[in-house]
Amino acid sequence: MKTVDLRSDTVTQPTPAMREAMMSAPLGDDVFGDDPTVNALQERIAALTGKEAALFMPSGTQSNLCGILAHCGRGDEYIVGQLAHTYRYEGGGAAVFGSVQPQPLLQDAQGRMALADIAAAIKPDDPHFARTRLLCLENTWNGHVMPDEYLRSATALAREKGLNTHLDGARVFNAAVASAAPGQDALQRLRGIASHFDSLSVCFSKGLGAPVGSALCGSHELIGRARRVRKMAGGGLRQAGLLAACALHALDHHVDRLADDHVHARRLADGLSGIDGLTVKSAETNIVFVDVAEGRGPALLEFLKAHGVLATGLIGLRFVTHLDVDAAGIDHAIATVRRFFTEAPAAAAGAGRSGPY
Ligand SMILES: *Cc1c(COP(=O)(O)O)cnc(C)c1O
Repeated sequence: MKTVDLRSDTVTQPTPAMREAMMSAPLGDDVFGDDPTVNALQERIAALTGKEAALFMPSGTQSNLCGILAHCGRGDEYIVGQLAHTYRYEGGGAAVFGSVQPQPLLQDAQGRMALADIAAAIKPDDPHFARTRLLCLENTWNGHVMPDEYLRSATALAREKGLNTHLDGARVFNAAVASAAPGQDALQRLRGIASHFDSLSVCFSKGLGAPVGSALCGSHELIGRARRVRKMAGGGLRQAGLLAACALHALDHHVDRLADDHVHARRLADGLSGIDGLTVKSAETNIVFVDVAEGRGPALLEFLKAHGVLATGLIGLRFVTHLDVDAAGIDHAIATVRRFFTEAPAAAAGAGRSGPY
């Protein structure tokens, strides 16, 4: 049986149709603005998110970095969740490359910072303080969909206080598909989410299944500044249409099918919740988190690996569904977890590896 790789939705292989789209894409030098496929992608994702412009990026990390540095200068700060990707998992890039200070705040179990905490963290204009410039949110966060009401009120608060707003939307397509109203198109929902923000970063390389690539979306002015930062960061790519073609293909063919990933995550959560020894903590969209009893997480990971199932975590395990996992793979994962708790000796220990994304 082939390995069921649930470590992340980044592990997908480009489909044969995606490879074909790649091979037939018209190309040019994107640093000269000459690549028609990159230009088509940028226009497409700008329109889909309701923004004036967009910029193709090699990665979500670079896209967020260029976004933050387009909003903030040296000595400015951005307000961000303590466990948000743009604070915790991007090497401190905004501080390292931009001298932009993060102001991290605690989040609740759904990833929300309290509005009162945001308001209290905004510094007055005083030489003692960094200049608070930007509020940075994330959707989905750890698989949770941010309620629209929260996005609306948090960004309204930011605007009222003169801050700009940025969304790390690495998995915003999952959020859009999961939270579309009955009968509403997911892309309409995407525009609704994006409408709250001055800028957003979206990833094509996660659930959408492209091999590489993200985009930063915002006003012409902001994207102009971000293009300069991207160049400095070494992200000016040449015949990048090879990669943009995959992203365009993903937008055409892989958005609505994210609902399948959500069904698979639910199937996994339901299957695991009947097993003694672990607790399903959350299973919204395509990410399932479980707590494993008595420090058995590392041993469980090793056992799963030996039986063709890959996941991440130590105490809390993470399983992520994506387009290379089907219902049979999910059932194999459930059966293997069940076998571990019924067959493997409780004393078994193994070394696990933790990698959040
Ligand atoms: C994966 C991810 C990123 C970064 O994307 P890379 O392409 O891996 O650099 C940013 N934010 C969130 C929430 C992510 O999950």
